[in-house]
Amino acid sequence: MKIGLVAHDNRKEDLIQWIEYNAKLFAHHELICTGTTGRMVIEALDHKLVSPIHVRRLKSGPLGGDQELGALICNDEIDIMIFLWDPMSMQPHDVDVKALLRLAVLYNIPTACNRSTADFIISSKLFGGEYHRIKKDYSEYIHRKV
Ligand code: PGA
Repeated sequence: MKIGLVAHDNRKEDLIQWIEYNAKLFAHHELICTGTTGRMVIEALDHKLVSPIHVRRLKSGPLGGDQELGALICNDEIDIMIFLWDPMSMQPHDVDVKALLRLAVLYNIPTACNRSTADFIISSKLFGGEYHRIKKDYSEYIHRKV
């Protein structure tokens, strides 16, 4: 599965702990991360010496990484998103954060914004299997007369 990973600075420690704890689970998956999150994920997995896990780094979130991830969602290239956003601080790229969360809902992407939801997702029997999420048909909207 293609798993999008993003953590705001105050949530990075949380995400890294979660990744380290569950490292073995990600062996056959691809992790697609915003820049700084991705750097820390690579370091954490290297330290764990688990079998190679493919990690792809996008730009840093505030530099467009959230939008890159949103574009991947639009193009059906993300199956799950773990997005530990910070509920206690303002973000310079707040509009991008909101846009990314909106696209995750629009495209029906299983999304975790905290560790417990992330735990539920990875322990679901659907994780790693052939899950075909329902995709809403927007053709009426696309062909509407304006
Ligand atoms: P970062 O971006 O991983 O580059 O820090 C996360 C974010 O969207 O703030």
